[in-house]
This record gives sequence, C-alpha cells and structure tokens, in this order.
Amino acid sequence: MASDKQRRGFSRRRFIQGAAAAAAASGSMLSSAARKEEDAEEKHGRRPPNDAPDTVLINGKIHTMDDEGTVVSAVSITDGRFAEVGHASRGRHGPNTKVIDLRGRTVVPGIIDNHNHIVLMGNRPGFHTPLENAYSIPDVQSIYAARAAGLPNRDAWITTIGGFHFNHIYGNPSDPLSGRFPTLQELDAAVPNNPVFMMISFTGPGATNSAGKAILERQGVAVASNGAIAGVGFGVTECSKALLYLRQTLLNAAERRRSVRDAMNYAVTVGVTTHLDQGAFQATNTAADGAAHEDNFTMHIPFLQVYAQDKAIIRLRINFLHMETDQATPELVQRLKNAFQFLGNDMVKTGAIGEFIAAGTSAASPFVAAAKRVAAAGWRAEVHSLGRRNTPASNPADFELEIMGFEAANGDSPGVVRERRWVIAHVPGITQEWIDRLQAIGGNLSLTGWQYLNGNPTASTVAPYAGPPFRMIVDSGKRPDGIHAGMSSDGMQIAPMNPWVHMYYATTGLNARKVLINPGQLISREEVLSLYTRQNGWFLREEDDLGTIESGKLADLVVLNSDYFAVPNEDLKKIRSVLTVVGGNVVYDGGVLDLRD
Ligand SMILES: [Zn+2]
Repeated sequence: MASDKQRRGFSRRRFIQGAAAAAAASGSMLSSAARKEEDAEEKHGRRPPNDAPDTVLINGKIHTMDDEGTVVSAVSITDGRFAEVGHASRGRHGPNTKVIDLRGRTVVPGIIDNHNHIVLMGNRPGFHTPLENAYSIPDVQSIYAARAAGLPNRDAWITTIGGFHFNHIYGNPSDPLSGRFPTLQELDAAVPNNPVFMMISFTGPGATNSAGKAILERQGVAVASNGAIAGVGFGVTECSKALLYLRQTLLNAAERRRSVRDAMNYAVTVGVTTHLDQGAFQATNTAADGAAHEDNFTMHIPFLQVYAQDKAIIRLRINFLHMETDQATPELVQRLKNAFQFLGNDMVKTGAIGEFIAAGTSAASPFVAAAKRVAAAGWRAEVHSLGRRNTPASNPADFELEIMGFEAANGDSPGVVRERRWVIAHVPGITQEWIDRLQAIGGNLSLTGWQYLNGNPTASTVAPYAGPPFRMIVDSGKRPDGIHAGMSSDGMQIAPMNPWVHMYYATTGLNARKVLINPGQLISREEVLSLYTRQNGWFLREEDDLGTIESGKLADLVVLNSDYFAVPNEDLKKIRSVLTVVGGNVVYDGGVLDLRD
C-alpha cells in the first residue's frame, strides 16, 4: 500500500515538472540552447531508462474529465499509470518509449459500467455474438457471416443470448417500425452450415436457422417454419428449453474461458474498460432458467482463471447477489462472515452485496433484516428499483421501501450508507421527494438507458414515462452535498453493453424505434460522459485510481472513431473505439492508428 501511495505521489510531482517542460517545449519559452540540450539528451538516450515513459500519446483531443474539464493534446504513461498530462507538441520520451500519434482523434477515459452482467456474458454457451450494434437484417447477416468464418468446425453454434432486441433490427432500414427477427432463410443465407440460435431478454422469443432447427427439434423444442422460437417473460418457454440444451451440451471449463475472453474482447471494442458485475439469478439447471440464470457460486471461476493466466484485458469488480425469502437470510449471513469485500487487485476484486440483498422489498420480505445485516457487517449494499409510485401512494413503490430500509439500516449502523456508498440502481420512477430522502443519508443512484431497447411511453401513466429522470437526478447532484449518480448499462440480457447507445438514450430520450419516450429528462453529452467516467470512479470507491485522465491514475483510455462531442445524435450509436488502453497496455487496436514504436 505504502509503496503504491509513494509511487503515485512521485508521479504527481513529475506531472508538475513534466507539464512545465511540455509547455516550454511546445512554445518559444525554452531557449534554443536548452532545446538543443533536450534534443541531444533524447537522441543519445542519456535520460535514465526508468525516467522515460513507456508510452506517449500525442496530437489528440484528450478529454481528461477532471474537475475543470481540461482537454489536452498529449499524455504519457509510466508503469501502467498516467504520468504527464499536458500539451507537449511531441512527448518527452526515451529510446524505448512507444509513441502513438492520435492524429487529432478524440480520447476519453476508459468507460466504467457500474452495473452490468458481464459474468453472465462470459458464461454463454456457444460462440455468443453480440447483435447490439446490428440495425438491419443485412447487419445481422454480415456479423454472423464474419463469426462463422472464424469458427473451429461445422458443429460450433453461433449464439446471441440477450443484449439486443428486434426493435432495432429493421426489416426495412428506412422504417424504424419494421423491427423483426431475421427469418430462417435469411439466417441460412449468412450461415449455411453452422447452427444458429438467437434470443432476446430473459426467455425469448428467438430464432434459428435450418441447421439449428433440425437439432433443436430433436430436443423437443418447437420451431416455426420461419425459424421463430417462442418465449416471453420468465419460466419455461421454447427458448429456455433450447438454452438449457445448449448449456448442458456446449459448456465446459475451457469453453467458458473462451467465452470470457470473447466477452472481454467485445467490451474493449466499445470502450468499456471497467465492469461492476451484479450477479445472476441462481441457476436451477432446469428449463425454468433464463438468460440471466447462472450458478452464483461457480460462474466467476472462468474469469478468475483468465485473470490468473494474465490474459484478462478488462477490470472486473464482483458483487454477490442474494435473493433469500427466509427472514433469517442464512446464506447472506454466511457470506458476510466468510467473504471479503474490496479484496483483490487493480484488475479484479470483490465488491458489495447486490444487485439483490433479499428476495423482494415488501414488508413481508427479509429486505429490511438483510439491509441491517449488511450494514452491521460494514458492507456495501446495492439494490435495484424498477417501480413507479402507486396509486394510492399509501401502497409504497419498491424504491420507497428500499429507501426506508436503507434508513432503518443506517439508523442501526449510523453513517454506513454514506461511508460505504450504498446504491439504488435503475430508478425509472423515483421522485424528487425520495431522491432527497436518499441524499439525506448519503445514498447514491445508478442510472441506465435500458429502456432504449423496448421501453415505450405507454408503459406508465405516470411521468416521467420510461425513465430514469436523468435531468432531475443530475440537477439534484449539483446542489450542495448533492446526490451522487453514475451510469450503467444493466447489460447483457435486457440491454446492450454498448455505452454509446445508453449515452444516446440519456441525451435524446429516443428509444430504438426513434420514439421520444423520456421527454423533459435529457442531459448533455458532457454530463452523461461524466457519469460514465469520473462519477463512476467515485461509485466504485476508486476515484483515486479510475475515471479521469490525471497524473497518477490508472492509464485506461479510449481513442474514438469520431468526435463524441460533435457528431449528430444518430451517429452517437456508431461510436466505437479505435484504440483501447488498460493499465497502459493496448488491449484493442482497430488498426487505424500507426502503432509502430
Ligand atoms: Zn442488473
């Protein structure tokens, strides 16, 4: 710990010296003699090797997301952390420094997703292939054809389990109301040999191709002649039967590790470098299991193996989900006694209890008892709310019950909510009155654009419709001691991981069909990017290490394919990384920058 702190202190001092040198080097302040000396020093490599940065990125529009919203043109990276952040026209470097010319591109801090389910994504059966960026049937066909070309053999399944919706796969690209699944014939055209299975949400509906249809029908799964497979909501469906078959026949330890690496490889293409995983519904290993079910006690193992092999390229924070109905919550009691929170390293560590601490929130549920136990153990609690105020309001909504439960726990263990940064996620229907109550005890809110995929304005008769009320919450945060909020995807079942889609929703209020469903609650691009970066560093209790591009912090950044701050709204959805750096290492190279040393 001490050496870490010392190193950071050293880096910050170096930053001040470095910034002065950089300012001098880019202007005319430096005497020509001094410049010659500096040039000579670099040419002859006289600078001690440990003084030269490992990597320098120059000529960028680097949005640091620091307190002042500073934009710089150059950063240097030493030992996995940012060193100099400034305006060097060409970075100070040594003979072994990798110099990356950004050629004017926009750079942001590595995106932090404070609530998602990447551990589920890394345990998918088959070659899970995200469709969250497909906007037409031809898009699906080209994504699948590319995936098929890389498969090991003709038996390998292409699967897409959640994270997308037919709402944004248009049959007719010029008509956003024509959303549908591809047909069996359209899937066959893209993938003639390998079996395909795709499904949305928790239990479908879904679709397959001819090869998949033949196999699934032999397992008793009903498949329509056009490839459609039925499913909706929770419980046993034709899709969940197919999913059980795929899990039982395709998953093994090696396949899970491969799936983990696929999930990580996808994450870095959309710039998400840190993920706070929120667990799964406990698997029953029956056809009642949906896309969000896994074994909460074993599903982290393939991830931990990939970290142990030093092949992990994203940062993972692990929450433990508990959904007991027993008032005594015996499993939670044992977790609190026998597990450790915030244990691990910069790449992977444990987190809180969440996104459930008990089954349900009603007075009959163990919610309050569980909250008090989590508080007494000094742990952090994260819960979610999907509800809106009821009529009559005497019948409390889930967020009201949760905030009252937090208040009770905080009463028993004074200050724990503020100190451990307890969270309520999603909150589509929260009101100002309840934001204020949560703020009073130091609670926090995690926001998400998950309604983008299938939200609609008729889902509620109570404003603000699809929610969450981004504007109300962000404005509440600007008051003195205002409530902290961060941003998340809640991917990978009911929502995409792609953060740019969530930023589109937060800033436009438009759903996948381009219908305005969250009017009056829009926030700016600057605001939502801040929620996804610096605010989320705070959310993870790692604001000294993550969330901004500042000297001494972990060197996570994303070079974008377009200027996030300037593109038209619809083009926000097309933003991708062209270069992702985690801890100073290039973990994704889209091939558009020249990375030669
Ligand atoms: Zn969730």
